[in-house]
Amino acid sequence: MTIAILALLTLIEGMRRVPAGSVVLRRVLFGPWTVERPEPAERLRLLSWWSPIMTTIVLAPRPPYQKTSVKDVRARLEGRELYTALFDLRVLGAVELVVLVLGLPLALQRFGAMGFFVGLGVVLLLCLTIFTALVFSGRTLGKRWRWAFPFLSPFSASRAAEVLLEEALRDVPPAVAGSALLPADAFLVFVRPFVYDASNGGDVDRRFLEGMNLKELRAALAQRPGGTSQNGQGLWCPRCGATFIHGDSCSECGVHLVT
Ligand SMILES: [Zn+2]
Repeated sequence: MTIAILALLTLIEGMRRVPAGSVVLRRVLFGPWTVERPEPAERLRLLSWWSPIMTTIVLAPRPPYQKTSVKDVRARLEGRELYTALFDLRVLGAVELVVLVLGLPLALQRFGAMGFFVGLGVVLLLCLTIFTALVFSGRTLGKRWRWAFPFLSPFSASRAAEVLLEEALRDVPPAVAGSALLPADAFLVFVRPFVYDASNGGDVDRRFLEGMNLKELRAALAQRPGGTSQNGQGLWCPRCGATFIHGDSCSECGVHLVT
């Protein structure tokens, strides 16, 4: 029972307000990143499922994006400083989450009040360590220590790694961040409609593709998605990449299909 309540409280911490136009990226444990279509309207969403078990970052639209490239962003993410901090915070967060949700109730059941207070001490020590690590890492990103303050709470501390990653990518154009994080094929699926609209005079926020080489992207997208393995003569939509057996326009985009 207590375990359920603690798990629920930690889950509620994952509720976030997502502004319109945000791009949400997520991964489970150390699995590949996945991406969703940009949010059409602002809404409240349950995003972090017991982070760091599921890591979710929100790239909210920014008025000016940083001038940067996929190479720079990759280098930053793989650079020792940020990489180590993210790794440590992820491990600490996972331990803190387990001790809080499972360890504390079990200690209470087994060893009574004494066990509970020892468990609580461990949780608070972990939170303090996470907070300190977050303050130091935040400083390299130009953040004041107050920024890390909410993650002193036992229910939010486990989210520290995703918060740091989100902060590191805050001013990076979504296409660049997506290209640096997503597997190559998932990234192409994600950018295809934006590139199509940008190339065909569609209504697209061009800032979305800032920092990307549009020519290269167009070349990469000119091929039919999913390779040539499927029934040689299928039709596909050049905007979203969906394949069709018959018909002349895509049911999603209303764009003429090509062979
Ligand atoms: Zn389509």
